[in-house]
Amino acid sequence: MSLLIKGGTVVTPTESFVADVYAENGIITAIGKDLKISADKTVDASGKLVLPGALDVHTHMAMPFGGTVSADSYLTGTRAAACGGVTTVFDYPVQRKGGTILGLVRSKMDVLEKEACVDYAFHCCITDLNGGEILDEMELAVKEGITSFKCFLVYKKEGMMVDDATLVKLMIRAKELGALINVHAENPDIIDMNIAKFLREGKTSAWYHYLSRPEFVEAEADKRAVHWAKNFDAPLYIVHMADKEGLEACIKAREEGASIYVETCPQYLEFTNEVYKRKDGRNFVCSPPMKGIESREALWAALKAGFIDTVATDHCPFQSYEKDWGKDDFTKIPNGCAGVENLYPYMLDAANAGKITFEKAVEVCAANPARIFGCETKGSIAIGKDADIVIYDKDKDFTVSAQNMHSNYDHTIWEGKKLHGYPVQTYLRGNLVYDNGDFVGKPGSGRFIKRIAKK
Ligand SMILES: [Zn+2]
Repeated sequence: MSLLIKGGTVVTPTESFVADVYAENGIITAIGKDLKISADKTVDASGKLVLPGALDVHTHMAMPFGGTVSADSYLTGTRAAACGGVTTVFDYPVQRKGGTILGLVRSKMDVLEKEACVDYAFHCCITDLNGGEILDEMELAVKEGITSFKCFLVYKKEGMMVDDATLVKLMIRAKELGALINVHAENPDIIDMNIAKFLREGKTSAWYHYLSRPEFVEAEADKRAVHWAKNFDAPLYIVHMADKEGLEACIKAREEGASIYVETCPQYLEFTNEVYKRKDGRNFVCSPPMKGIESREALWAALKAGFIDTVATDHCPFQSYEKDWGKDDFTKIPNGCAGVENLYPYMLDAANAGKITFEKAVEVCAANPARIFGCETKGSIAIGKDADIVIYDKDKDFTVSAQNMHSNYDHTIWEGKKLHGYPVQTYLRGNLVYDNGDFVGKPGSGRFIKRIAKK
């Protein structure tokens, strides 16, 4: 099976140029002007952009959390991904005390094998070292292609937090193995103290979700994690960065030579804490919460300056009735929002509007996530890479609504968002999976991506 995409503008992290792209058996084998090759399928992309499929390196599908399970199954979540130009998702299964990494991952793979509509990989969340066994098992996991692990510095009551010594042990071990530790940084003790105070005072609206975990509560944990990474000389990846002070600490440490990677999400680039004052404020409840306008502006500035490596979504939607559990008590709102189908269109819209370049959008949504997380065949339009390709129409207007998305939720924080420019086709390893509004792929066609450790 061969595919020839003719006359589009190919975008890489460093340049854009008009060229034909030819793929055979799912792999790009030729790129050039007016290629004289015949293919099983030829697509005219003139006037359109030809982009690498995005990697959403932060999703929570079919995840038990907040007293329920996130709304998207692996099937509906990866179907939505395909329709938003995301051709690889990274899920975050959570290991629990007594559980193993590979046992957990295999149980997820059994489901994904049947349901995945795009390719997938795992960052395994570690919540307990099982007396040190997990540190040993990490070597096997890395050999199996699971080369990143996550630590929560928060969710203490939920039994998911690790203490600083555990975090440092994991960082040192990951460094030995050429793997990477991701952290969710917020300070749980201060959050719990604030929550108790607000509930005592009868302050129960979504606004108090923000006030119980404001900028400085995230910043403390960001800085602590960066401090350990710097002093133990280990690489660190901070997920969903949302505050200016923590971001600045990361930038400073990088300038001093530390290997600190920073991820942010579209919701932190788009919204501010003002959303929690809205009547539907609970629908925006996620952790960390959206912050003040200074943080939003700092994130955009850092993105443009190259201090943000990746943009991913933390996709973890819940249904309205579940969000409503917290109508009169913000602590009962399941934390998480939709995003996987909106990531690439949102960042590309920002490029179309001139806020960033298309090259930058490709860099932070595709090339960097592939490089940082060891997906050697992903993330760029280049010879030898998988033909994960998005054809993007810069002139197509699109308004996001829960009704025109391909997930399983009944509302979205992106409702009504107007985008100028939208993906018109997505190819997964050379196969068309999204065509002008419709999912046309096959559940079960996504493959596990065995990643390569940095050695
Ligand atoms: Zn997350």
